[in-house]
Amino acid sequence: MKAIVVREFGDPEVMKLEEVPMPEVGASQVLVRIKAAGVNPVDTYIRSGWYPSKPSLPYTPGKDGAGIVEAIGEKVNRFKPGDRVFLSGSITGTYAEFALCDESEVHHLPENISFEEGAGVFIPYATAYRALFQKAKASQGESVLIHGASGGVGIAAIQWAKNAGLKVIGTAGSEEGRKLVKAQGADFVFDHSKESYSEEVLQVVPEGINIVLEMLANVNLIKDLDLLSKFGRIVVIGSRGSLDFAPRLIMTKDAVIFGMSLFNASSEDMNEIINAIEDGLKRGFLKPVVGKKMPLELAYRAHHEVIEKKAYGKIVLIP
Ligand code: NAP
Repeated sequence: MKAIVVREFGDPEVMKLEEVPMPEVGASQVLVRIKAAGVNPVDTYIRSGWYPSKPSLPYTPGKDGAGIVEAIGEKVNRFKPGDRVFLSGSITGTYAEFALCDESEVHHLPENISFEEGAGVFIPYATAYRALFQKAKASQGESVLIHGASGGVGIAAIQWAKNAGLKVIGTAGSEEGRKLVKAQGADFVFDHSKESYSEEVLQVVPEGINIVLEMLANVNLIKDLDLLSKFGRIVVIGSRGSLDFAPRLIMTKDAVIFGMSLFNASSEDMNEIINAIEDGLKRGFLKPVVGKKMPLELAYRAHHEVIEKKAYGKIVLIP
């Protein structure tokens, strides 16, 4: 089968399309024919070699994907060959024609969700759910600033938050991104590259924001604390650098700043997340936005774009 293989950590160009042996299916494993693989920023951090938990080389990147069950081990009872599924991880990596998974990493994909959309489900929707509900404990009627709403996690957060009855303020750095955020149901949309965006936010929520989901904390954390209401909560989802700030800002508002890494979720929390995602996909209020499809061999280009270009939903790779 064909798969992207990384033989040394480094720039996106270290990812090469190779012919590799088909994995053998163990007793509680599922072999999935990948129809689309989701590209996440974390895939680029791992490939570059600086991410704390690194796979041993060589490896095939990719955590998200969707496809059709090809074969099952003798102890697998939730799936049969031919089932449509999305993945919450795999043993062999999703940037490939097939991925070998533990049964627990495989989930039924409803008919109303395409494979390309299914490839954009797990990391974005699980992250947004954990941030909003397991960390910030969002409740109906509260306001949420989704700071970076045009990408995978941001779009997912808009959908979760609107369904839960929150007032949503989203930001994006491009005109197209802002149109997308508005079309997804955000009540207000601002441009995070404009110096004046925080005044604009306070014009529409003068009492201050209850919850901030922050995709780039090293840039925005100080302004977030200015925008926050008393007892507000900030969830740091993404950060790509450091900053110097006065902790007094947290004190004066009785604010709470949560850090989160999806991979720290307990199995109990993860079960809650997966159940909520399956329910939301079936009911139709969760639907990933696929901004770009690229052939598998262009994985290197997808890694450049997910970091360097303005976001517009998900980038997916098609084997
Ligand atoms: P993505 O699809 O590439 O989207 C990136 C988002 O960040 C876009 O909405 C982008 O907006 C926005 N952004 C860029 N500059 C910004 C700024 N100055 N202020 C606010 N937002 C800004 O990535 P993603 O999958 O949504 O992930 C978002 C971040 O969360 C990444 O850093 C990722 O590594 C991280 N993440 C963390 C976890 C976790 O467990 N902690 C899980 C998943 C993702 P424009 O492009 O429109 O400017």
